[in-house]
Amino acid sequence: MRWPSPDSILGSNCPLCGRELDGPGVCSSCAREMHAARRHNLLYLGNYRKYKDVVRSLKYRGGRNLVPILAQKLAEGVRAAEWRPEAVTAVPTMWWRSWLRGYNPAEVLAREIAAELELPYQRVLARRYAPSQTRRGRDERSAVKAGVFYLRMILKQQTWLLVDDVWTTGGTFRAVERVLRAGGARAVYGAVIAARGD
Ligand SMILES: [Zn+2]
Repeated sequence: MRWPSPDSILGSNCPLCGRELDGPGVCSSCAREMHAARRHNLLYLGNYRKYKDVVRSLKYRGGRNLVPILAQKLAEGVRAAEWRPEAVTAVPTMWWRSWLRGYNPAEVLAREIAAELELPYQRVLARRYAPSQTRRGRDERSAVKAGVFYLRMILKQQTWLLVDDVWTTGGTFRAVERVLRAGGARAVYGAVIAARGD
């Protein structure tokens, strides 16, 4: 008797092209074409339009089988850029969000990138509760954001790779970078799955 593969039971399609999956996470042709692009200090795999199902899978459907390929490509990008970070960390979510989901997708990705690069992952950041920012103006939003993140411990390393799932306006990265620099970081590089406004 022949048993169907788990993917055929789940009816999984590639979250990038919609074709039937022939490998873990994304299809082999999307995996071949996936490369990290670089914009200043930021690496990203593609624009949000293309990657939105990938990002959503990680958040809401526990798409952990996507993590290895994403981490591998971003780690390749870090090596190609010759950034040489000393440690990796992730943009934190509110504790209750990761508690509800069981994990923070940015941290799961960051840990895998750290493993690829043979670097320590350090959970150095935390995030305070801040009321919804949707009705605030842009200036007010970024001022609020700067107070949202804080360091949980003294930094041992000076060059950091900061990981998140999506780069939107850069406000989050700037706020976190400010906190890391205030704690003694000399350089902060970013790696995300998708960038908006591309
Ligand atoms: Zn595909």
